[in-house]
Formats: sequence, structure tokens, C-alpha cells
Amino acid sequence: MLSNSLIELDRAHWVHPVASYRGHEKAGVRVLRSAKGATVTDATGRQLIDGFAGLWCVNAGYGHDSIVEAAANQMRELPYATGYFGLGSEPAIRLAAALAERAPGDLDHVYFTLGGSDAIDSTVRFIRYYQQARGKPQKDQFISIEQGYHGSSTVGAGLTALPVFHAGFGVPYDWQHKIPSHYTYRNPAGSEPAAVIAASLAALRAKVDALGGPERVAAFYCEPIQGSGGVLVPPPGWIKAMRDLCRELDILFVADEVITGFGRTGPLFACEDEGIIPDLMTTAKGLTAGYVPMGAVLMSSNVYNVIADGAGAATIGHGYTYSAHPVSAAVGLEVLRLYEGGLLDNGRKAGRRLMEGLRSLADHPLVGEVRGRGMLAAVELVIDKARKTPLPAASLPAQRIFDRAWNNGLIIRAFGNGVLGFAPPLCCTEAEIDAIVERTRATLDETLADPDVR
Ligand code: PMP
Repeated sequence: MLSNSLIELDRAHWVHPVASYRGHEKAGVRVLRSAKGATVTDATGRQLIDGFAGLWCVNAGYGHDSIVEAAANQMRELPYATGYFGLGSEPAIRLAAALAERAPGDLDHVYFTLGGSDAIDSTVRFIRYYQQARGKPQKDQFISIEQGYHGSSTVGAGLTALPVFHAGFGVPYDWQHKIPSHYTYRNPAGSEPAAVIAASLAALRAKVDALGGPERVAAFYCEPIQGSGGVLVPPPGWIKAMRDLCRELDILFVADEVITGFGRTGPLFACEDEGIIPDLMTTAKGLTAGYVPMGAVLMSSNVYNVIADGAGAATIGHGYTYSAHPVSAAVGLEVLRLYEGGLLDNGRKAGRRLMEGLRSLADHPLVGEVRGRGMLAAVELVIDKARKTPLPAASLPAQRIFDRAWNNGLIIRAFGNGVLGFAPPLCCTEAEIDAIVERTRATLDETLADPDVR
């Protein structure tokens, strides 16, 4: 009863993020009510394993009392403090220091945001300021990658390279450019790592040339693993090669770790997987494990000092009311304590089991490729393995697969024409990982039996 009235209220009033509004009105909302560990319970009492950690953010898992306590204590003590006027709060200072201590290389300066999109926006503002401050205002062109996702704010959506974030919105802007993705499974250069890397390096060089040379290009953005584009894992050596080329060309290298940060791929930051140090790094999601909103931009000492010296005594006009919110910062500190107190270790173990389990699905007739690293994975479905033919778009395979998985007690992400995305909480037990794999197998079998999908 309650659920029905909620569905009506939702239909009438809530505009959902990234949705077909008419499609959603027709389908009706599914209301989630509670959660513990890796399991969520909906308003009808159905229990599901959350194989996607909310929106790849609840890395710590649900129901940690210590996180609730950290937030409640901070709310009692000091629920808000601005960072304007030279003010600050202890948790914000401590979290900035903790991140600087753990981040690669000299990423020592932290600017707090509310999430990933405004972290990306902030990098664009800082990078423009930086290039102006060093006397190179003509370096004002930005390059990102096809299939990349960098948020859905107006500026971020233009760096994003997924069509639904562009169509009808008047983006990308003319200073936002793309090069092809490494997408190994469908790369015209083939799937050999050396060929994929060479193609990406050549594409970046060619794009820079086409824009008038390095003196016109401000920055290059990439995700260590492309998330929303379908969990596209670059070959080993790819990110290091791109980072090195950016250094050679005097182009700032931005690693968008909004998904890959905080244990998702194994280490605290995915840049550690290949030992690279970006000039700027964006994080969000796992920073507070989704319990409260927060993002952060980490910048190198060089970027920070050029901006600071360039401004001199002048005010640098970039800030939000909720930058470095003390409640979010207190949550961030507690979440970090939990990660380092065992969750990262458990995530690495669970990640190995997840990848092994998903790879066991590779011989299923619908599975074209299984890819991933740690607790971030995808299974790409095809109807013809030799030709790599995607599932027919007209049958809305993603929605059907999501619904089937839901009915099998599993929440996963289903992208586009049938790429299944997995990003379970790092707290998953072996039994939960095995259940994710088995429920996926059942979902694939049902999809195979569906005449509309073939
Ligand atoms: N960058 C990446 C790589 C992301 O995956 C996301 C969100 N999925 C964002 C930026 C934007 O973050 P938010 O949704 O918190 O604004």
C-alpha cells in the first residue's frame, strides 16, 4: 500500500537522474528501504546483493555504525563550517592531510567538492588559471577520450564522451576534444597491448597537432579504467605511456579516479597500479563510501604553487558553500580508517574471486569478453562471438538484463546494448561473490532463451 502511494508520488514529482522520464513513469520506481553489508532490501522485503555498490560508491558496504557515529558526533559538535574567510574545521584539515599523505608523488594539495562532477569542473577552472598564471593563456584546449565519463555538469558533460550526455544539451564546447578509446575488444588497431598503446599515442599526438600544437593544449583527461563507457580496461603500460607523452608535450595529465579510487581496483588509488603520478587527480564516491556526498581534487605542488604565486595577494574566486563540509570530512576519515583496517585487503581477495568467477562465464554463448581489475569488472555480451555482434538495440537489452538480474536477487549495471557492469562493496564475503557470479549466470541463461534478444 505504502509502496503504491510512493510510486504515485514519485511518478508525479521526482525527476530522476539519467533516465527516460516517460519510460520511468511507465515502469514506476523501485523503492529501496534498508541495507546491511552487501545486501539491500526493497520496500516489498525482497533482498538483493548489491553488485554495483549503489552507483559504484558504497565501497565500504552498508550499515557501518562507526560511520554513523562519526557523522552524528560531528553534527552535534559542529554541523557546518565554511572554508571561506580563512576558517576551517578539524576533520577537513585532517582529511586533506590524510589524502595528501597517501596520494601518489607530490599530489599534496586538496580541494574539496560535493562530488565528482564539480571536482571535474574545478579542475577545468584550476587548469585555466594555471595556464594563465604561467603566461600561457593560449593553452586553452582540453582533450579527453571517447567512451569516457567525467560527470554531467555542463563543462564535465562536454569532457564526457557518451552521446546521451550531449544530445540536446549543446555540448561539447568547441574547446573540448576527444581521441578514440583504447577499448581493446573493439579497437581497430587490434587487441595487442603494444598496438593499442601505439594507436592511442599517435591519436593524442595527431589531435594536439590538429589543434595547433602543444602551445594550444591545456590538459588531457583519462580514467585509469573507463567506467561508465563499459568498464574498459587499458592494456598494461597504456596509462604510463600517455602520462609520459603529456609530460613531453607540456600538457597537464588529469587522472579521473572518481570510480577507481578507494580500493576499487585493489590499491587506494588505481594510479598506483602503474606507478604514475598525475598532475591532478579527481576523486569522490569511495571517498565517503556514498554515506554522504563529497569529492576532492588533488593537485601537485607545481600546479598549486603556480596558481598561488600567479594570484599573489588576489583572491582566487572558486568555492562552494559546502566545500570541505565537516560532516562529510568526518565520514571520510572514518571510511579511510575502515579501508585501511581490513576492507582494502578483503576487497583485493574478493576481487580475485570475482574476476575468476566472471571468467568462468567466458564460454557462455552470449559472452564476448570478460574484463576488469579488482572489484571493477564487466561482461560484454554479443550474439555472434566471431563477429562480436552486439545484442540488438531495438530490444532494449540493458533494461531486460537489469530486470532479470533484479528478479534473480542481484543488482548490476547494464550498459547500452548489453555490457554488464560489476562493482560490489569491498566487504563482500566469498559466498556473496559466488552468488553474484551464479545469479549472473542465471541471468545470462534467461537472456539466451529470450527470442527478442537474439
Ligand atoms: N568522473 C567519473 C569517472 C565518474 O564515474 C563520475 C560519476 N559516475 C563522475 C566523474 C561524476 O561524479 P558525480 O556523479 O559524483 O558528479
